[in-house]
Amino acid sequence: MRAMNLILVGPPGAGKGTQGYKLSKQYSIPEISTGDILRSAVREGTPLGQEAKNYMERGALVPDAVIIGIVCERLTQDDTRNGFILDGFPRTVPQAEALTTMSQAQGCPIEHVISIEVPEEELLQRLAGRREVERRHDDTDDAIRYRFEVYCRDTAPLIEYYRQRGLLRAISGVGTIEDIFQRITSIL
Ligand code: AMP
Repeated sequence: MRAMNLILVGPPGAGKGTQGYKLSKQYSIPEISTGDILRSAVREGTPLGQEAKNYMERGALVPDAVIIGIVCERLTQDDTRNGFILDGFPRTVPQAEALTTMSQAQGCPIEHVISIEVPEEELLQRLAGRREVERRHDDTDDAIRYRFEVYCRDTAPLIEYYRQRGLLRAISGVGTIEDIFQRITSIL
């Protein structure tokens, strides 16, 4: 089988985790969520978790070198042989550059960068709702606001980075989970 290497990008609350999970089942490839890796490190109280906790609670980004190290190690694991889905990484241009280098070195270049687009108004409503259901530590009002700022400042430039490389596939993230899933699978 041909390997399929995907990145999901989009603002907080766009549905990257939900779609990443479904894509992972559909194509039998792992979904790699840096947020999930960090949250479990925080839960387990590992040195990584202790370092990351403070940044995460504020909605700030964990330093690039730390995150790049985690992903670099994860991508050498055997289960990524037939492809992978990255959710929440890269989040800065230096992370994207590091990923370009490491994925080429491993002979598994990124094929599609799926940008899930949702109007800000709707995102804020979704995140307020998620606070009731998921109880993430960073779903407080201040942290939500700050995560948006960080997204606009540090992560949104990735859209241009990948557009210039011909990898960007933008889809609307408004509609049902199934609608959005269909939009994504139809372009893969
Ligand atoms: P997420 O679940 O993707 O929203 O990530 C939750 C939090 O983990 C973020 O607000 C950051 O503090 C941290 N984080 C996750 N992925 C990254 C990344 N690629 N770069 C820096 N920080 C990250």
